[in-house]
Amino acid sequence: MTLRRATLALTASAVLAAGLTAGPSALSQTADAPATTARRGPDTLFPLQGNAGYDVRSYDVSMDYAPLTNLADAAVTIRATARKRLTSFHLDFAGPTISTVVVGGRPAAYRRDGDELIVTPATAVPQGRFTTVVTYSGEPPEYTDADGSTEGWVRTTDGAVALGEPVGAMTWLPSNNTPADKATYTYRISVPNSYEVAANGDLVSRDTVGSSTTWTWRSSDPMSTYLAMIAIGQFTMTTAETTSIDGRTIPIWSFEDVPTGAAASAKALLPEVLAFEEKHFGPYPFTSTGLVVDNAMVGYALETQSRPFYPPGGADDLTVVHEMAHQWYGDSVTLRDWHDIWLAEGFATYAEWMWDGAHGGDTPRQHFDDLYATPESGALWRPAPRKFTDSADLFGSPVYNRGAMTLQALRMRIGNADFATFLKAWARAHRHGSASTADLVRLAEKVSGQELSPLFRTWLDVAGKPKGY
Ligand SMILES: [Zn+2]
Repeated sequence: MTLRRATLALTASAVLAAGLTAGPSALSQTADAPATTARRGPDTLFPLQGNAGYDVRSYDVSMDYAPLTNLADAAVTIRATARKRLTSFHLDFAGPTISTVVVGGRPAAYRRDGDELIVTPATAVPQGRFTTVVTYSGEPPEYTDADGSTEGWVRTTDGAVALGEPVGAMTWLPSNNTPADKATYTYRISVPNSYEVAANGDLVSRDTVGSSTTWTWRSSDPMSTYLAMIAIGQFTMTTAETTSIDGRTIPIWSFEDVPTGAAASAKALLPEVLAFEEKHFGPYPFTSTGLVVDNAMVGYALETQSRPFYPPGGADDLTVVHEMAHQWYGDSVTLRDWHDIWLAEGFATYAEWMWDGAHGGDTPRQHFDDLYATPESGALWRPAPRKFTDSADLFGSPVYNRGAMTLQALRMRIGNADFATFLKAWARAHRHGSASTADLVRLAEKVSGQELSPLFRTWLDVAGKPKGY
C-alpha cells in the first residue's frame, strides 16, 4: 500500500503522490463483539479474523452485478481442508443478506454475529476436504476505518472496486480472512455489456449472452484475501505483453478510467519497472500483470495481486515501483501475521530507494542517512516496526521507513554482494508462500554466515532510535 506519508523525505514524485487525500488505515477490531463468539484466530493483531480450524484451497466467486444500483447476486464456493473434525466453523463475512449456506451439498444452519458467519453443517465435517457454498444478494458495503479511510466494496462513479487491506475482503467474500491462509481464486462476474471487469490473475474468457457479459478471471497462484481485487466500471482496457527474465511471455492487462496523465505514464513505465525489479529480486512471481486506475475516493494505491490498484493521479513512478515490488514482497512472499507487515512495506519502500538511486536520485544509503538524522523524538522511532499494538500503526512511518532502514542496516553489515543474494533468496525461498521475521533472520544468517539476531532485534523490536549501525 502507498499512502500519503507526511514523514517521508519527499521526492518530486512523492510530492505529487501527496496530492492525494486521506490517511493511513486505522482499522481496529470491533471491540464490542460478544464474548460468546470471541475466539482466537491465527493473527495477533486481528484475532477476530480468520479461523485456524481449516485451510482454504480455493474461492470461486460467481456474481451478477448491476453497476447502477450496486446490487450483487453472488454464489461463493469455498473449497477447504478441515484440520480436524468440525461440528461448526466460522467464516469472516460483513456482506449483504445471505440466502443459503450449503456444506457438502446439504443445506447448513448458520447465524451471523458481527463480522462472523457461524456455520453448523447438517453433519459434522470430517477431517479433510469439504466444500461450502454461500449465496447472498444485496449491496456489499464499504468498510470505513476510524480515520475515515475506506476499503471493502468501494463505490466508484461507474461501478465499484473491491479493496481488501487489511480486512475489507469480508464485505464481499465469505472467507478465512487472514493473510496466512492463501488460496487460488476464480471470478465469474456478469455485468451489462458496456462495462468492463478487472480482477487478479489471468483473463480466461469473456462470454456475452444477450445484454450481459461474463468475465472470467483466474488466479492460479495462491493469494491472501487482502490482495483480492475486483474492479467493475467503464474502463479503457488495453492488452500488451512483456518478456520476463526467465523467458516467459507475461500478458499485461490494464484498465483505466482516465487513460491520460499519471495513468498513461504508469502504464508506459510498467515493463521497465518489472525488468528493473526482476534484475534485483529474481523472476516475476505471477503469470500476468497490468494495472487498474479507478475513480475510487480512497487515499491510497494498493498492491492487489498481479494487477495493482491506483486512484486517479496516484500512479506516479515511485508508487508504481512500490506496488510492483510488493508482487515479490507481500504478494508472493506473504506475511503470516499482520505484526510482520514490515516484510511487505519495508521491502517496497526499499525498492523505491533502489529505483531512486539508479535513476539519478538519492541512493539507499542517502535515504538511510537522511532518515537516521531524524531526532530521537521523531515518529519514525516509535513504536518499533513489529511492536505496535494499535492497528492504526499498521501503515505508519516505522513500518515503512524504519522497515526499509532495517534492510539498509543489514546491507551495511553483510555487504553488497551478500545483500543482493539475500534479496533474491528471500523471494525464492518463500515464493507463493507465507513467512515470518524469524524466517528472514535465519535466511540472512545463512547467506552471510553472521549472527544477525541482535541487529534485527534492535531495528525491529526496540522502540527508540538505534544507537549506531
Ligand atoms: Zn506498500
